[in-house]
Amino acid sequence: MIIDYRSDTVTRPGPGMLAAMSTARVGDDVFGEDPSINELEQMTATLFGMEAALFCPSGTMTNQIAIKCHTQAGDEVICDESSHVYQYEGGGIAFNSGASVKLIQGNLGRITAEQVAAAIQPDDVHRPHTSLVSLENTSNRGGGSCYELAEIKKIQALCRERGLSFHLDGARLWNAMVARNESAVQYGAAFDSISVCLSKSLGCPVGSLLVGKKTLIHKARRIRKVFGGGMRQAGFLAAAGIYALQNNISRLAEDHQHAKTLAAALAEKSFVKMLLPVETNIIIFELKEGHSAPDLVARLKEAQIYGYAIAPNRVRLVVHLDISADMIQQTIDTIKKY
Ligand SMILES: *Cc1c(COP(=O)(O)O)cnc(C)c1O
Repeated sequence: MIIDYRSDTVTRPGPGMLAAMSTARVGDDVFGEDPSINELEQMTATLFGMEAALFCPSGTMTNQIAIKCHTQAGDEVICDESSHVYQYEGGGIAFNSGASVKLIQGNLGRITAEQVAAAIQPDDVHRPHTSLVSLENTSNRGGGSCYELAEIKKIQALCRERGLSFHLDGARLWNAMVARNESAVQYGAAFDSISVCLSKSLGCPVGSLLVGKKTLIHKARRIRKVFGGGMRQAGFLAAAGIYALQNNISRLAEDHQHAKTLAAALAEKSFVKMLLPVETNIIIFELKEGHSAPDLVARLKEAQIYGYAIAPNRVRLVVHLDISADMIQQTIDTIKKY
């Protein structure tokens, strides 16, 4: 049996989710007539205490739509240098919005209000116009690190004062909320827009949502159509999302425990130079000199354990719904022999 830690996107829908999908009521969502999509959007908006939500095929699309909503060509977006919106969305900020980025060197993907303040451009015709600050929680490249809500509130206050929009890439926000015992409403109150994924830690086959004010989501719906993301009887996918929101959030604590157990075993290995702090479901570790990440990943693959070499000396393992306690034990037993 393959134990797949490459990403939390590799999960397959289980019997409960499949049953919910196969019995979903559907309609044409571009006409606004899919009852399951409407229910999922309403449910998510309510969960965050925000006015409206929009279901999209991917987190890249929800992020890119949000950026398009908040900026004009020639504007600048402030974000951490490791952000998904900058590193892993194909240059979409430039491609879709004609905006540039002001990159900040954060701490494990997290930036501070002080850093944001220093990155805002002065009102000068030579300079790009700063219009948006984008955070990522949890931070993917930061090893699933979580923000302090107090720092987010400081950045929010700064954005208000300086007239900037404030977006959250919350692909794994569910993990942060469970790890830090926070509520969705606290996040809804802090941001102008939030992107959340159903296809990662919550175990859905497809789907992300953008949450925000009615006016923003109205604009976002138009942009989604332009981007080719208007789907028809997508209620089958929304039904998976409704099932996931109802059943798969609190269980994330189990994934976090599994990640910590596995990380503790890795920390004992002589070939491991350092591990990023494990707060949620992502383990990133660096190998000592003379060891190569692709080599280790290849060796693990022979034992049917799949990981990901994110750098020549760095390996990432992601724990998720389809990783059982037995699989964690089997992985630890294998690593012990190395
Ligand atoms: C996965 C991910 C996304 C969205 O990815 P899609 O594959 O387009 O759904 C966005 N932000 C972060 C931090 C991610 O890890």
